[in-house]
Amino acid sequence: MKDSYDVAIVGGGVMGSAIAYFLAAEPAFDGSILVVEKDPTYARSSTALSVASIRQQFSVPENIRISQLGFRFFETAAAHLSVDGQAPDVGLKKSGYLFLASAKGLAVLERKHRTQKEHDADVVLSEPDQVKARFPWINVDGVAGASLGLYGEGWLDSFALLQAFKAKARSLGVAYIKDRVTGLERQGNRMSGVELEKGGRVACGAVVNAAGPAAADVAAMAGIELPVRPRKRFVFVFRCRTAIPDCPMVIDPSGLYFRPEGDGFLTGISPPPEEDPDCQGSEEDFEVDHGLFERRLWPILAGRVPAFEAIRQDRAWVGLYAYDTVDQNAVLGPHPQVANFIFANGFSGHGLQQAPGVGRAIGEVVAFGEYRTLDLTRLDFARFTAGRPVRELNII
Ligand SMILES: Cc1cc2nc3c(=O)[nH]c(=O)nc-3n(C[C@H](O)[C@H](O)[C@H](O)COP(=O)(O)OP(=O)(O)OC[C@H]3O[C@@H](n4cnc5c(N)ncnc54)[C@H](O)[C@@H]3O)c2cc1C
Repeated sequence: MKDSYDVAIVGGGVMGSAIAYFLAAEPAFDGSILVVEKDPTYARSSTALSVASIRQQFSVPENIRISQLGFRFFETAAAHLSVDGQAPDVGLKKSGYLFLASAKGLAVLERKHRTQKEHDADVVLSEPDQVKARFPWINVDGVAGASLGLYGEGWLDSFALLQAFKAKARSLGVAYIKDRVTGLERQGNRMSGVELEKGGRVACGAVVNAAGPAAADVAAMAGIELPVRPRKRFVFVFRCRTAIPDCPMVIDPSGLYFRPEGDGFLTGISPPPEEDPDCQGSEEDFEVDHGLFERRLWPILAGRVPAFEAIRQDRAWVGLYAYDTVDQNAVLGPHPQVANFIFANGFSGHGLQQAPGVGRAIGEVVAFGEYRTLDLTRLDFARFTAGRPVRELNII
């Protein structure tokens, strides 16, 4: 390790590694890049614990565009990310999201649909009987309408993606070190270095915050308050003896989701706000509420798919969302005063799919001082102080 880098990235999860890759691959950038990752096993990173799905069905145009770029990247990842002739397989499975709406939610679904169509998303609205005809195993009681993605949606292998970004970034000269950033050096409105638990001080020309659920802790080291908090989310795996053909990612009006994974299914549900505390300072709490499956999820699953009356739940895990408490959207780009402190934070449960779009965009900000491919200015930090939230309505 050198004692000075042009760019120091705090956190080497999918976002830190995507940013490192895009920046290193940018011909106009010839600076040095350091990624500091405290746990290279990634055991508790959001990336490794993700449900790793991608959709075009968002309410905010920037999120639709980011996913469109992301999907195209995933389709061609083997070509972009191969190292020494070895092409990675990010395990992309193409399948739609099926958003089901109750009568109460129908107008919002239709409004989001109009936005998605305006931004070239390949989505279609369906009546309940059309949903039933296409997916005969589903019960459409309480469903007033649905939106199905026809292209540009699916899921992938999040760990394979992370490792592919990382391997490619390293092959392009990015230095990764295992250490914890314990402090940031700020001189007035300039970041000038990072302090490491074991490695002492490293000078740098810019700091990128890619610390996932710990983003607010890292921002606080620069004296910046960031409204991003770790929130626990449970993922349950279950198996069903009856075949459920062509099962997409289904989003029930209750907020519960399920999708196939291997020979089973993944499912989860976001808690109501009053049962969704920040776990700042208790990030070590990865304990699963095993009762939640029977208490809350199974009744909804069995109500929506009669074959799910007879299922067997096996594994379960906890992951942390980096939850933007203001508008549930990413916080991207430079701090308005501290221009060389750059955010890539607050993905609120949709950051895996955003790694290519955001990685590329943040790479451009570092290399050129501006966005070139996608204009993500509206998702800046200044929106919090200016009181112009960009609320994402499709949070799962
Ligand atoms: C249960 C669950 C389901 C999800 N489902 C989806 C989905 O279907 N689709 C989707 O797009 N997104 C999904 N997400 C969100 C997505 O996984 C995340 O947005 C994405 O992985 C964030 O990547 P990251 O690199 O920002 O964070 P992380 O993967 O958490 O990486 C941050 C890294 O920073 C390191 N770090 C933190 N602090 C320090 C420090 N001080 N010093 C050094 N290193 C540090 C950590 O060790 C960690 O490895 C889901 C998330 C969860 C938890």
